[in-house]
Amino acid sequence: MGDLSGYKGDALRFLKDAGAAIGDVVEVRTSWGVVTGTLVPRYLHGDAAHVVLKLRSGYNVGLDLEGLKGVKVVAKGEKPSFAPPAPPKSTGGLPRVLILGTGGTIASRIDYRTGAVHPAVSSAELHSLVPELSELARLQPEIMFDVFSENISPRHWTKLAQRVAKAVREEFDGVVITHGTDTLGYTAAALSFALAGVPIPVILVGAQRSPDRPSSDAPLNLVAAVTVAGSADLSGVYVAMHLGESDDRVAFHKGTRVRKNHTSRRDAFVSVGVPLAAVWGREGLERTSGDLPPRGGGQFKPRPKFDERVALLKFYPSMTGNAIRAAKRQGIRALVIEGTGLGHVNREVVRELGRFVRAGGLACMTSQCIDGRVDLNVYDTGRDLLQAGVLPLEDMLSETALAKAMWVLGTGAGGSKAKELMSVDLAGETTTRTFPGKPW
Ligand code: ASP
Repeated sequence: MGDLSGYKGDALRFLKDAGAAIGDVVEVRTSWGVVTGTLVPRYLHGDAAHVVLKLRSGYNVGLDLEGLKGVKVVAKGEKPSFAPPAPPKSTGGLPRVLILGTGGTIASRIDYRTGAVHPAVSSAELHSLVPELSELARLQPEIMFDVFSENISPRHWTKLAQRVAKAVREEFDGVVITHGTDTLGYTAAALSFALAGVPIPVILVGAQRSPDRPSSDAPLNLVAAVTVAGSADLSGVYVAMHLGESDDRVAFHKGTRVRKNHTSRRDAFVSVGVPLAAVWGREGLERTSGDLPPRGGGQFKPRPKFDERVALLKFYPSMTGNAIRAAKRQGIRALVIEGTGLGHVNREVVRELGRFVRAGGLACMTSQCIDGRVDLNVYDTGRDLLQAGVLPLEDMLSETALAKAMWVLGTGAGGSKAKELMSVDLAGETTTRTFPGKPW
């Protein structure tokens, strides 16, 4: 049977009975006339009540199954295929950059005939998307996963960390990881712990708009990421995303201090509580933070394991102890509580956290304020939380705290050792002084 991706229920049966497949030119008889067009795939969450055709004008039309009388295949379409031009022969002397694909908007490419979305998989495809990349580095693209980043889990972090560690042994000059933007900050934090001391740049990069759109941020973000990964004299884990509205500068954020702060803007990412690490533009790389480690460095011992038995809970007015009890029942070993203001929760939650800690759990506090730092010494509630054994995490971001707690438990640490590791700065996740200004 031909491909009918995304169709289900009645719509699937209707098309199947006619022997139609995606890409075929079909004639659909409706109660109001005949419509001719190319059968287009449906999105994963599309309903079962419509058939979608691309008309000769280029517009898509959705036809309600209710009014449809029949469908006839006029011409069999070829299976959608894409033959990118070969990238130029490598000119030697260029740095070697490993590109690890994980999925998300940045990796997608649309087949205009059918509307299907494909990941860009080969160096040829990358070259055809952004020809400039081939002049910047010898690229080795590898698809590790093809998922939207809401589906990334600690298991994916482990695989990424292991692959980067191997890339270091293989003497790559740098690694670029293409990733969906939604959980880019979590992965960047997780890799910052797993790869602490990595001697090359590891750049995570995403895009808010897919590469087929004229306003896409993918090409510029990729060019900046590959340039820095291949040639900049720095090491560590960073996120590269558009800076401001302009189309010529890309911000580099430290992996443990970065957050997606806007749903759709291309400059959605911000460095919280610290200056940007660096800013890339056509004229070069400007370091905006004084403490970026150079390439090379000392010992590198990757620790790629994570323990998923950690939960991040946001406190809200009227929250009860149920959420904490439920977490305990599910075997959760560490909790990151995102409290209000300086790090507060109501009395019932304080009591329940005390029980959780007495039973051997690790409870840590971050703030919903995002900027600023937790201080449990100001109000009675804070002091009660300290008494209950809750650990204040200074100015650590909640997402970073979650990744760190998973990593700490993944090292095998427990009890007071885990608490100690959570309180010391391992990868720039906490600062000693609150940064006074805006990051840029
Ligand atoms: N939901 C998508 C993801 O995070 C959005 C994107 O690709 O940026 O994978």
